Amino acid sequence: MPDFTVLPKGVSAELFTQALKEYSDIVGAENVFTSADDLVSYQKIMIPVDAADRAPAGALAPASVEEVQDILRVCNKYGIPVWPVSTGKNFGYGSATAATKGQIILDLRRMNKILEVDAELGTALVEPGVTYQQLKNYLVENKIPLWLSPPAPSSIVSPMGNTVDRGVGYTPYGENFMFSCGMEVVMANSDILRTGMGGMPNSKSWQVFKWGYGPYLDGIFTQSNYGIVTKLGMWLMPEPPAFKPFVVRYPNDDDITIIVDTIRPLRIAQIIPNAVVIAHALWEGGAQVTRSQYYEGNDSIPDEAVEKMKSDLGMGAWNIYAGLYGTPEHNDLNWKIVKGAFEATGGLVQEEHEMQDNETFEYRAKLMRGEMTLSEFGLYNWRGGGGSVWFAPVAQAKGSEGLEQMAIAKRILGKYGFDYVSEYIVGWRDMHHIIDLLFDKTNPEETRRADECFDELLSEFSKRGWGSYRTNTAYMDKVADTFGPVKKDINQRIKRALDPNGIIAPGKSGIYN
Ligand SMILES: Cc1cc2nc3c(=O)[nH]c(=O)nc-3n(C[C@H](O)[C@H](O)[C@H](O)COP(=O)(O)OP(=O)(O)OC[C@H]3O[C@@H](n4cnc5c(N)ncnc54)[C@H](O)[C@@H]3O)c2cc1C
Repeated sequence: MPDFTVLPKGVSAELFTQALKEYSDIVGAENVFTSADDLVSYQKIMIPVDAADRAPAGALAPASVEEVQDILRVCNKYGIPVWPVSTGKNFGYGSATAATKGQIILDLRRMNKILEVDAELGTALVEPGVTYQQLKNYLVENKIPLWLSPPAPSSIVSPMGNTVDRGVGYTPYGENFMFSCGMEVVMANSDILRTGMGGMPNSKSWQVFKWGYGPYLDGIFTQSNYGIVTKLGMWLMPEPPAFKPFVVRYPNDDDITIIVDTIRPLRIAQIIPNAVVIAHALWEGGAQVTRSQYYEGNDSIPDEAVEKMKSDLGMGAWNIYAGLYGTPEHNDLNWKIVKGAFEATGGLVQEEHEMQDNETFEYRAKLMRGEMTLSEFGLYNWRGGGGSVWFAPVAQAKGSEGLEQMAIAKRILGKYGFDYVSEYIVGWRDMHHIIDLLFDKTNPEETRRADECFDELLSEFSKRGWGSYRTNTAYMDKVADTFGPVKKDINQRIKRALDPNGIIAPGKSGIYN
């Protein structure tokens, strides 16, 4: 019997050995991973916790829906939990690790077929392992003028993983779950559910009509552990005749008030149709230069150093990226409105032709037209040491609230010696306030401080009624608690009904059976 370092909770080495044999019969021995070497990539974790606390018992890589069904039968038989990942690159939220120790990572990367793209309707049906790059290549090779809306790690991550974790991209279709249509889900008892119109034999409208008949179920398979999503319908945006990206800069941190109040009506009326990014200087600069070029201290970077960086890099305190999408005439008309609104409130408006050779503008423009770029990974050079955890509270799209959240976040980050590396992403009426808590993970003291800082951010924001839109695998219980006991109880009751043995991703979003 192999000498396992980690076993699924309550499962003996003997039974686990038997289960592994059965998994091998399903996926082939070469797709069952249990050795320390094979599991390294499933344990790389940027968040400030010890990877050993969430170490997997193994990983399995099925190639088909039938294999997923068979795996779940074995899981039920032995009480072994599996944590599904699509491409497993949930960086800063726990990467491919599970919320608890001893789960098997169900790595769906081998299920990577683009099942259908309808060029006329602008829809796609994909498997979990399909990456944005793969789908983009397919569209280009087949000369299909449809755009994707990837998150910043674009090429290497999946529409499935991003959508089921309710992530965002930057085109007008940026709220990815909102633009999904129809799922296929393998339930814990191995039943296959097709949501929306997909349950009908020979359904013609699975990818075009979201709601189906009766209760709408897709939402309960996002940020949840009620099933394993094996197919995802997506709506893809037709390439517009004209696209006009632009940046607007404001000099002071407190300008966030006027910025948000200027954007809100433009965004709600869809004059600006995409998710607007309001990047703070420390995010804008943090992706381009290193901290040590401006400051060597261990406390948070002082204002004078940030001012110097702003002036060296030609940045504002806040740097707003958005775009216009439409016909040239339509964009010309809207440009007058947008430019006028920002200039009236003191913004420096810059157009694409003024931003030649500006790499930050180029990567932002690429994301806003759904192209692939990995430029944002530059953020990890800012402090160095590979530690990163996203704090992601939601704010109303109101200037006063943007100002208040900024002030509280800066105070708490400052207390622990960290920098306010942040951006607001204006959805429609909301803003995701995304703070990248960057720290040196090779330094245990700094890692502990980062964890305490994250905990305080979460407590203080929750106390004021600001909930997180998403969180990392170490904080799922705590965030779940902030949404109240009734929500937690209902989540749990659904879990018990659908997965009585608790074999799918226990702990995801604080849900156990
Ligand atoms: C520099 C940087 C910038 C980033 N920018 C963004 C951004 O702009 N927007 C954004 O949203 N994120 C961003 N991220 C976070 C993250 O990398 C992306 O959200 C990425 O898409 C998630 O990884 P993935 O697609 O591999 O998903 P996965 O890791 O495969 O999945 C994410 C989670 O969803 C669940 N899941 C996955 N597949 C399934 C399934 N088939 N069935 C059931 N549950 C499943 C699992 O709980 C899994 O842990 C950024 C990260 C970095 C490092």
